Amino acid sequence: LFHDISLNTLHETTSYFNFDHLEWYYANAERRDLFGTFPISFNLSWHGGVHLSPPASNNKVYAAASGTIVAARLGGDHATEVDPQWGSQRFVLIRHCVYTQTEHNPGGGTRTNYTVAPEYIFTLYMHLADFGGNLGAPDPGYPPWFNYWLRHRAPGVNPSAVFCPNVEVAAGDWLGECGTYFRQRMIHFEVVSRNELTVSPWDDPRVRIHDDSGTMLCTVPLIDRFVRGQLHDGIDLLDVLRAARDLRQVKSYNKSEWALANADALKPVIPDPLSAYREHYWSSLRHFMWVSEALRACPDLSAQLCDATGMMWHYHPFTFMKFVNQLVAEENGQVSEPDTANTNVSLENGYLTDFVNFAGGVAAPAAADNHPLRPFDVSVAANAYHFTRADIACSGPAPHNPGLAPPTKTLFNMSLLDVLESIRIQLNASVIVVRSHFCAGHSADTPANQALCILGTVASLQKHFTGLAADIRPAAVNPHSCQALWDAALLVGGQLRGSCSLHGGEPSRADLDATVSSVHDLRVSTLPPLQTKLTNHTALTAAEANTCILHLELILETTPVRWECWLRTHTRATAVELVFLGVVGTFASKADAEAERASPAELVTQVPSGWTSTVITNCSAIRVRLQGGGIVGVYDQQVRAEEEKVAGNAWPAEGQPDLN
Ligand SMILES: [Zn+2]
Ligand SMILES: [Zn+2]
Ligand SMILES: [Zn+2]
Repeated sequence: LFHDISLNTLHETTSYFNFDHLEWYYANAERRDLFGTFPISFNLSWHGGVHLSPPASNNKVYAAASGTIVAARLGGDHATEVDPQWGSQRFVLIRHCVYTQTEHNPGGGTRTNYTVAPEYIFTLYMHLADFGGNLGAPDPGYPPWFNYWLRHRAPGVNPSAVFCPNVEVAAGDWLGECGTYFRQRMIHFEVVSRNELTVSPWDDPRVRIHDDSGTMLCTVPLIDRFVRGQLHDGIDLLDVLRAARDLRQVKSYNKSEWALANADALKPVIPDPLSAYREHYWSSLRHFMWVSEALRACPDLSAQLCDATGMMWHYHPFTFMKFVNQLVAEENGQVSEPDTANTNVSLENGYLTDFVNFAGGVAAPAAADNHPLRPFDVSVAANAYHFTRADIACSGPAPHNPGLAPPTKTLFNMSLLDVLESIRIQLNASVIVVRSHFCAGHSADTPANQALCILGTVASLQKHFTGLAADIRPAAVNPHSCQALWDAALLVGGQLRGSCSLHGGEPSRADLDATVSSVHDLRVSTLPPLQTKLTNHTALTAAEANTCILHLELILETTPVRWECWLRTHTRATAVELVFLGVVGTFASKADAEAERASPAELVTQVPSGWTSTVITNCSAIRVRLQGGGIVGVYDQQVRAEEEKVAGNAWPAEGQPDLN
């Protein structure tokens, strides 16, 4: 737990890290366009953090947790900064004291053990924007921590080079503004330590990657478990993105990418024939290095951050933040029930379902009104959703089904609400929800009801019935705003696709509950003539803008649970095939085909690849395959697999995903 933490501050932390949205944070960092994958980059060089691009409406970077700013650099090489291939070299490094050990609590259960020394964990915020001014005197435009340092600093210290501020900050304190790197507005966020964290979830040897070679390239075989070249064209960004979900749990010990000593360190990625290019590349890259300077400026860091050559442990920043939040929640005894008194809508299986008001701790049905949606307890009103209960209620004409006027119920997917909010933030302007959910009172059979959706089809209306579609337009209607809304919706859709679809959705294993659906894609469309113009960036006329409404729909992916079992533990078959009610095996010899046939009555037939016979009759599997010298059957029901197995227990497995 954090040392000397103020509980109020921690409570406010949820304003910045809302862990109900953890999956959304992961997805936003695992994006093709930000190329910041943890713990390796697409060329298999070490990359110790993730990349985050804040919304254009708020460029501020806040402290992820309370601690002490122990190193910073607020300047850099100007030519490298303005070079679009490179960018900002400014950073802030915060040290956090985290008490990870627990002890028996005389009152029952366990509690944090504060008598064991804490772990020193560091968060890094790289690529901060120019602070402005000459950094020589306090300025109301500077973050408070920097003004504090300016007022107390030792003479002669230059904040343009690496310095040791030693200023305490609380979770959520403003550190600086997001700068740029490689043509993108982004922050590189990283969590590191010198000592290895071995508490859960980092107590599993399968996620422990250890490379003491001191090179920038990952050559550890263990990483192959996670990242495989899917297209047999070498490892590339897509392969790493596919592995990103599994890599969230990884910890890796390797040389910090900020601790390279000279151009020779680049040899693994820019080999010798290209030595001139290597020197040129290094002439810019060297300005981003900071570890050795920090070790000189801040003596404590030699014992706490890394060894003299910059070897340190790296953790996925969001996995670490989740871990710390759990520690805090347990210490506060808040694990069991989240506070719902501040919410005004109920959630069920990821859908907003009922509008409620709390009075005396009891939730009473409420009407669809203009109160901003608060599906989670949010401590700051500004962090509530900008869309209202009326926005997501059925907007079809009365009568509704159930016949409540006004509606107190709806069905609206939570991810779609996040999509709307992301589009609004991206657009940096208000968005009007023209149509959202339609209740069962508006049958899809009538053309009048179909026309409620801008696309006017049975299929599109169906999406509104199931809470997966919304029709939107900009609040200020003009050709420019319509185009901007279209572009924003496509961008948000691309972000979803770049993350969710690559990961293939949530696991659906029966041992992890039941089949679940996850978001696969966002489809954005409108009526054909307008869609063509918007796609081609051809300016709309004012009249067209007046009719421009976009239909958004989420595509869900469901991964079904399958059951597998042994149908034969030993076979000499070289191939097996499911035929009508049976399994046919192919064998190298006639004798083998005869020996393994289900009964002497089964025919043995010669085929180009050998000899075949029916080896199992009356098989209700949906697939069969050879595995480990035996035959495995795949079933859609556990009971069928248990009935037809020949040994052991049937085991659950993921089937092929369905899209809808
Ligand atoms: Zn990075
Ligand atoms: Zn209705
Ligand atoms: Zn629609």
